[in-house]
Amino acid sequence: MSLFPHFSKRIGIDLGTANSLVWLAGEGVVLNEPTVVAVTVDDNRVVAVGNEAKEMLGRTPGNIVATRPMRDGVIADYRITEALLSYFIDQVVGRNRFFKPEVMICVPSGVTQVERRAVMDATLAAGAKVAYLIEEPLAAAIGAKIPIAQPSGHMIVDIGGGSTEAAVISLGGVVVHNSARVAGNKLDEAIANYVKKKYNLIIGERMAEMIKITIGDAAGEEKVLVSRSSYYREEKDRKAKILNTKYPHPDTAIRTDQPRERMNNDVEPTDTPESMEVRGRDAIAGLPRMIVLTSGEVTEAMMPVLQQIVTAVKAVLEDTPPELAADIIDKGIVMVGGTSLLRNFDKLMTKMTGVVCHIGEDPLLCVVRGTGVALENLELYKRSISRK
Ligand code: ADP
Ligand code: MG
Repeated sequence: MSLFPHFSKRIGIDLGTANSLVWLAGEGVVLNEPTVVAVTVDDNRVVAVGNEAKEMLGRTPGNIVATRPMRDGVIADYRITEALLSYFIDQVVGRNRFFKPEVMICVPSGVTQVERRAVMDATLAAGAKVAYLIEEPLAAAIGAKIPIAQPSGHMIVDIGGGSTEAAVISLGGVVVHNSARVAGNKLDEAIANYVKKKYNLIIGERMAEMIKITIGDAAGEEKVLVSRSSYYREEKDRKAKILNTKYPHPDTAIRTDQPRERMNNDVEPTDTPESMEVRGRDAIAGLPRMIVLTSGEVTEAMMPVLQQIVTAVKAVLEDTPPELAADIIDKGIVMVGGTSLLRNFDKLMTKMTGVVCHIGEDPLLCVVRGTGVALENLELYKRSISRK
């Protein structure tokens, strides 16, 4: 513990694949920026970090590239990660490092010892007095207000941008864990590939993400089997036929009155727009073009990736000792991370795992909050923390 606890700021950092968040002890979340760094091609100099760098993604002139250093959930480039950490620490404590801060970083459970050491070293090089590390599922659980120290099993699934982390926690430690490098970014990619294949239209990753957030819906496979556009077409034909019949069979008449209810039988009605305009570049003509994409098509595009995410979660359930599994069936699975916000993903997860899934409070903030709370209560969580 510090001799001058008041002077030394304590900072928790969630270094996410998509977004990085910073927590200042005593204050809360003070910074939330995309994990993007822009560097020059020739001498690898860092020119922009965070929001400023994200604006450059896909729009950089030839001599600058904007990269996502944590793309796959781990440190891909040590030097860039250090630049990123320096930037965050500077933003919070200023450039004057007379009183160096204590910094807790959250890393995915799946990272190797070498990668852990690299993160700690980058943290110290970025100006921290002490570097602490906490595993992401523990931080996520603390942030979601799960009492992790109890001798009872809890399951937490963090679905972010680059990776899905599923873990069963008991007595302050991770008992079973699985991490898959498939999450929000892969959904964006799947949408972009679908649009390219079906419409010969090339769209950027930001457009793909916007499509996902605006009309993406993970609702049941009904929609995939019969993607909305064709469903409505068939439904219209059928209605037309019935209108032309003088005495429609009562059953058919009722069914056509409620086409949406039948389709959404286990899904709550949502206010998801049915379709949106999508702009990109024609793959053949090379010119800008616009199409209208339906929500059903997006579901269809995303479904294989959603299934991979669910498979990663199921793998943990299958490896869970029976006593803990019983606890989880009682309490359900808590989902956090940005991708847990995808419409109806909790319902799909519930249906495919057979365990009730809830979305944690503030799913985008759970990990950083947990990291901060662990830092503020080092004694309480010391079993879950490593230090350098
Ligand atoms: P990470 O921890 O890996 O940085 P986050 O937990 O910040 O990731 O989540 C970022 C991911 O969540 C991105 O892929 C983003 O597109 C996705 N996301 C954010 N909001 C939504 C939403 N409302 N619907 C679907 N996906 C979302
Ligand atoms: Mg995260």
